[in-house]
Amino acid sequence: MDISALSGVGPGRAKILLDMGIASVADLVNHFPRDYDDRSEIKTISMLTPGTTHTIRGTISAEGENISFRPGAPVMTKLLLEDETGVLELIWFRQPYLKKVFKRHEHYLFTGRVVDSYGRLQMESPDYEKIPPAAFDDLAKGDFTENILSAGRIVPIYTLPKGISQKMFRKWMKTALDLPGVVSTEDILLESVQSLSGNLCTRHEAIHNIHFPVSDEHFRAARRRLVFEELFFMQLSLLKIKGDPQPGVKIDNTDLAPFLEQLPFSLTDAQQSVLAEIAHNLHSGYRMNRLIQGDVGSGKTVVAAAVAFLALTSGYQAAIMAPTEVLARQHFKHFSNFLAAHGFDTVLLTGSLTVKERKVAYEAIREGRAHMVVGTHAIIQAGVAFNNLALVITDEQHRFGVNQRAAFSEKGMLPHAMLMTATPIPRTLGLILYGDMDISTINALPPGRQEIKTYCVNSGYRPRLHTFMDKQVQEGRQVYVICPAIDESEIEMQAVTTYVTQLREALPHIPIACLHGKLKDKEDVMTAFGRNEYPIIVSTTVIEVGVDVPNASLIVIENAERFGLSQLHQLRGRVGRGPHQSYCVLVTDSKAEHTMERMQAMEATSDGFALSELDLKLRGPGDFFGVQQSGLPAFAMANLYRDMDILKEAQKAAVAASQSALEIKMPAIDVTM
Ligand code: ADP
Ligand code: MG
Repeated sequence: MDISALSGVGPGRAKILLDMGIASVADLVNHFPRDYDDRSEIKTISMLTPGTTHTIRGTISAEGENISFRPGAPVMTKLLLEDETGVLELIWFRQPYLKKVFKRHEHYLFTGRVVDSYGRLQMESPDYEKIPPAAFDDLAKGDFTENILSAGRIVPIYTLPKGISQKMFRKWMKTALDLPGVVSTEDILLESVQSLSGNLCTRHEAIHNIHFPVSDEHFRAARRRLVFEELFFMQLSLLKIKGDPQPGVKIDNTDLAPFLEQLPFSLTDAQQSVLAEIAHNLHSGYRMNRLIQGDVGSGKTVVAAAVAFLALTSGYQAAIMAPTEVLARQHFKHFSNFLAAHGFDTVLLTGSLTVKERKVAYEAIREGRAHMVVGTHAIIQAGVAFNNLALVITDEQHRFGVNQRAAFSEKGMLPHAMLMTATPIPRTLGLILYGDMDISTINALPPGRQEIKTYCVNSGYRPRLHTFMDKQVQEGRQVYVICPAIDESEIEMQAVTTYVTQLREALPHIPIACLHGKLKDKEDVMTAFGRNEYPIIVSTTVIEVGVDVPNASLIVIENAERFGLSQLHQLRGRVGRGPHQSYCVLVTDSKAEHTMERMQAMEATSDGFALSELDLKLRGPGDFFGVQQSGLPAFAMANLYRDMDILKEAQKAAVAASQSALEIKMPAIDVTM
């Protein structure tokens, strides 16, 4: 039914509603309130206290008059209302037409702020609703009266554009809800699904109570039902995307012994069990689609190399994609080391190759002479054709857009997919973002790691900090200094170079390297730092992910307030990678409460999962993933942080429903991933 069928919706308002996405009456009832105002308690005039908002019911005892204290001053409309206990003055400003609205002896409900005006109580600019005499008596008895919308109940507040008042909108809403068939009485959640999820109220009840809650409990039940529904269907579609396992290349070799023998350490139990899960996937004949989560320093790289080893020794190509050139180079070094000993060739593919170098690399990849391909997203560019690619590993997955996951399938290839991330996504959110994947967690760090001592200081400590850096360097250790991340590269570069100049003055005897996004030879600088040619490196966040220099024992993060918790944790993970006691110093002059909360959390815990949960709580899911990384579906009702418990139930119910023979009709809910 078209929205203009409602009385009071003319062409002008229909247009405004259309702009809000409301074309039909059914759209209208799906426009949920943004908030509620509890006006269920109706006071008598004698009970009113100044300084608070109250709802009263009464009879107009004197018709309105418009008063203007001096020419040009705003008109004040004044009205008298009485009930069994007294008389009250009501006033409005700049709405002279109100004078004609109220008639003597008529009954009204008013909600507004009560103020003390020279010893007399007044209600300012109240919301009003006329009530028929019969309802008036009901209200006197304290009964709930269904047809009164602005008081005597919990009142919905909608997000509305100019030209549509709350009062009008409520009235339309009520009319729409009462039209037969607008809210389907047929439930889209089958009874059997409902029984899986405890007692949810019906959809019909939910829609009515989300707009006009009969009570607080009714409201909570309604919200719960709608949130559940939204999350249930979202989970169900994710399970559908996941679908039946697709056939995949069978990786025959499962013998890792030759690879492991050559390692300078033995794998942790956590690394081994994750490897076992992966090997099982690869051997199954079905395509793997697995996310590997592991806190910074948990040793994901060696797991990736082991998996690549299995693919290569089975006669296939493998690729690993890293988010930055620096990281790609580092992986290239590791992988070529690991793999050359077994007779495999590794090539590097990044954006900075010359045309000629690229041509050579492309050819080697196409002809299968390059067994292992390491690179940035240059790997997924159009010109790249593989010979027999069986495995793609994406490192630091959170730095890639969710869409890039699909890139290889679009190339018509279906290699096994392994994604690695060190931004530990809270489990439940992981279910949403990666609901179509299996998840493994490397849940322990290699032995012998010491807790990174973390301190938050203000810039007054800088001289002492310089002394501390000096001391670390004298002991043979290395130091990272992270400068503020500013988007405009020019400014970023300046901030870093200025800082470096000052630091070189403070510590003239120490060679200090400088790294920022604009630099051409980033890798050379990194390599030189890795070789300890520079004991100190000052860098922007290009260093953030993955860089591994085990000799580094101190990281100083300037303007620490500019970073989110997860990012700080990532940065801190650059140190503590070797046997040396390591330190993280957060420098900030900010006294903002949120900043202090983050800094204290950093000092108190080194558990990446705990920090990411807190980060999510402090910032909300939108910020948490950043704009381009968000990929989170937008919900009408559900709040991913607050509704985690419902999400878990919905997830369980969706799994159960997809495994049962139930034929579930999917509603037209967008699941954009
Ligand atoms: P991340 O998971 O953050 O990518 P890396 O793979 O870079 O971590 O590993 C961090 C450091 O730990 C590296 O220097 C690596 O050689 C080392 N490492 C990895 N696994 C082990 C292990 N089982 N025992 C000892 N050191 C290990
Ligand atoms: Mg890594």
